Amino acid sequence: MDGTQLKQAAQMNICQTYARHDLVLVRGSGCRLWDADGREYLDFVGGIAVCNLGHCPDDLAEVLYRQARHLVHVSNLYYTEPQVRLAELLTGSSFADKVFFCNSGAEANEAAIKLARKYSRERHGAGRYGIITMKASFHGRTMATLSATGQEKVHHGFEPLVDGFHYVEFDNVDAVAAAVDGTICAVLVEPIQGEGGVRIPGPDYLARLRRLCSERDLLLIYDEVQVGMGRTGALFAHEHEGVGPDIMTLAKALGNGLPIGAMLTTNHVAEAFTPGSHASTFGGTPLVTAVACEVLKRISDPTFLERVLTVGAYFKERLQALQAKHPRLVHEVRGRGLIVGMELKVPGKDVVRRCQELGFLINCTVDTVLRFVPPLIVSEAEIDRLIRALDTAFSEM
Ligand SMILES: *Cc1c(COP(=O)(O)O)cnc(C)c1O
Repeated sequence: MDGTQLKQAAQMNICQTYARHDLVLVRGSGCRLWDADGREYLDFVGGIAVCNLGHCPDDLAEVLYRQARHLVHVSNLYYTEPQVRLAELLTGSSFADKVFFCNSGAEANEAAIKLARKYSRERHGAGRYGIITMKASFHGRTMATLSATGQEKVHHGFEPLVDGFHYVEFDNVDAVAAAVDGTICAVLVEPIQGEGGVRIPGPDYLARLRRLCSERDLLLIYDEVQVGMGRTGALFAHEHEGVGPDIMTLAKALGNGLPIGAMLTTNHVAEAFTPGSHASTFGGTPLVTAVACEVLKRISDPTFLERVLTVGAYFKERLQALQAKHPRLVHEVRGRGLIVGMELKVPGKDVVRRCQELGFLINCTVDTVLRFVPPLIVSEAEIDRLIRALDTAFSEM
């Protein structure tokens, strides 16, 4: 199949849930991707904050191959060593005591929502199942997680929503406090909003949320699906604030591209889950968890995380210089580590298209925010090349 045939066959055979770019990708290595014609692209999307260690690193391929020949899947009716090792690594490097494994961000959030409801029901009885979430948040596409998502366009057409979600303004603790009543059991928040446009809350936001939740006996849930796993220069984004949650969800980069999600919690809260409460056929297979162990070990390395901060600061500086050169087009640059947003005064889709023509993959969210979430191994020289492409694109506009 050539590129044209492939795109036609995709349109005929695949549900049209994505507005895809006109690009067929066939190979990846590090921060580079190649299309079907052998053309090279520098990747600042990273599968949307998934391939944090770059495309197809040899050591992960080796672990995957070895585990594939050893044991791929049994069932969670039995113990397997890679799953236990990953759980130990996760609890050993976070606030958490217990982990539930699943296959995606949405499923991790589903587990968090179910656990919060069950915990609250056992502690306070029926009727206390509401969860406060934030406007412009993103938590997934299943019925419960789309209902948790504070965006009308994600709800549209799928009503009635799952009951009990209440949306308040992001980065506003008073709005959360005002929404708490006897029906609320938890607050669900992204430490940095990713899909919502790389929105970084004020420095005391999480601390004040933590205090409110403790005072009102609410569970605090962090959705770190996008900003966890080293993205911000800390293993988990909330570490910058030093304020832990009761429940945290992970997915995207945990398998560097293999599907895995995880819900982490404390012993006290985890007690609400008992055999039969929740399950997942594929959750935490030896194949995927063997690879995730390697991913977590590499990303937890303080030297690695330090470099994410240094390179991220460099990236932000270079984008700010570009903003100074193109004030007509650029409104703001914001970011932490290697999640960096550039808010434009115009829609970003033409910039995305022009960059692709120039050999650079970038992403645009909420219409006007260019969101850069490259592999965390990106170099200063690669950033310089992207800056030159953006400069070209902006100069032509
Ligand atoms: C991507 C994302 C999800 C959903 O993850 P899926 O794996 O697509 O289900 C949930 N929360 C956040 C913050 C995300 O970025």
